[in-house]
Amino acid sequence: MWKISQRPHSLLFRVLKHRYFRNGSIWNATKGCQPSYGWNSLLYGRELLNKGLQVQVGCGNTTKMSDPWLPTIPPRAPSLLPYTNPLLEVSSLIDPRTNQWDQQRLMDSIDHIDHQIIHRIYLPPVPQHDNVVWSYTKDGNYTVKSGYHMMTSNAPSDTDRCPPLAQYPDLAKNIWTVDAPPKLKHFLWRLLSNALGIKSTLRSRNINIDPLCSRCCSADETKDHLFFSCPFANMLWHLTGIPITYLQSPHIQFEDKIRYLLKIMEDKLIPRSTRLLPIWTLWRLWKCRNDLLYSAKDHSIQKCYESINADIGEWVSIMSLDPINSREIRTFSSHTSRWEPPPVGWVKCNYDVSLTQYPTSGMGWVIRNSQGILLNCGMGKFEGRHTVEEAEASALVWSMQCAWSLGYRRIIFEGDNLNLCKHLMQCSSAPKLRIFLMTIEAWKQQFTSTKFQYTGRQGNKVADKLAKTILLKYQDWNLFHTCPPFLKHYVICDQ
Ligand SMILES: [Zn+2]
Repeated sequence: MWKISQRPHSLLFRVLKHRYFRNGSIWNATKGCQPSYGWNSLLYGRELLNKGLQVQVGCGNTTKMSDPWLPTIPPRAPSLLPYTNPLLEVSSLIDPRTNQWDQQRLMDSIDHIDHQIIHRIYLPPVPQHDNVVWSYTKDGNYTVKSGYHMMTSNAPSDTDRCPPLAQYPDLAKNIWTVDAPPKLKHFLWRLLSNALGIKSTLRSRNINIDPLCSRCCSADETKDHLFFSCPFANMLWHLTGIPITYLQSPHIQFEDKIRYLLKIMEDKLIPRSTRLLPIWTLWRLWKCRNDLLYSAKDHSIQKCYESINADIGEWVSIMSLDPINSREIRTFSSHTSRWEPPPVGWVKCNYDVSLTQYPTSGMGWVIRNSQGILLNCGMGKFEGRHTVEEAEASALVWSMQCAWSLGYRRIIFEGDNLNLCKHLMQCSSAPKLRIFLMTIEAWKQQFTSTKFQYTGRQGNKVADKLAKTILLKYQDWNLFHTCPPFLKHYVICDQ
């Protein structure tokens, strides 16, 4: 089904289109009368595909607000404000003059918890048509393996599709501002949206398993038991020194207990090492429970407590190493390749991003000649993207625009994201990057000669420094025609 949908010029596609969806799309075509055996089986496959398909907004003309157009896993529609018409087109959120998201319209129609997700969706400067991508692979192409994985993993089923945490908007909002690594915030989100495989939750979904807590065997394993009232949990909270009377009470709702813990985590008057304790304790309790259940490993309470402190120590030191808290998610740890100057007659433009989890990320580019002399460089802030590849592609588009307007026509563009570079060099299909690749291709036509190259992180240090530096600046962007002082050391090292 996926293969057919991706080849609209094939004979098979055209035959099917003629018979079953002459005026519509393959994604919402109906059975029709006297469907063939083949079409029937395709529709069956489409049911599975539909669960993992995300609409990628190009101009938003053919996408409705209620379509799954947010690049979340699984993909979903944004939470609309009560009076927003779900059948409205997504293009109504885009300012036609700038072709950017219209902040006022977002505020008028969509719950603010989804604003950041939307801002990170790239809109091409020249509008392109909307299309669908498969969410469960990196490049957006469907694979049998990823389809099978989606089916068997505990992705929420249709029955509990109601937006998670809709009843607790304050919690939903506060989770993401907690001082903790993304995986822990995600864990907390899953815990509160009943998406963790806790026994009572599984039983409520008609999965027949032993309901008792695997540790104390004296009560059912519910969220409250596992994290607060089980004697093991209780003693662990005791060690952390966090007041537990409230947490122990059977009359207080689970969500209120989490609210209480979130307050501790946010209170700047409490020392940081203490503020970090609640979320790491919850996390450790969950890990210990899984170790016991699946690997028969029984950790002592003392050992658990030590692990919590070790985790916190590590987190604090990681965050203090990196003054701007940037979280660089890189998929490729490079070998130590140095920067190489371009051949005579060419210039080379290195580009990079510094992707953070905050609303602002940074990008930078630097153009140098065959002697390694810096000719121009720039750095700017942007709203970030949902994947590193998308962010890197955005930086590349921006560097191409700048290089062109500065008059360069024979130029090598070099980045340190292997996946993006592969797609650029091999022109392979990557539905998730389609809009970027088309924009890059259009810019490429403007130059006399261009090359796209990959380098390891060592070869991209100057661009990396620029992308990080802008995040410390008050301005939104900077353009330099000589080497700025903060960059001198890095440029000289490359020469
Ligand atoms: Zn127990």
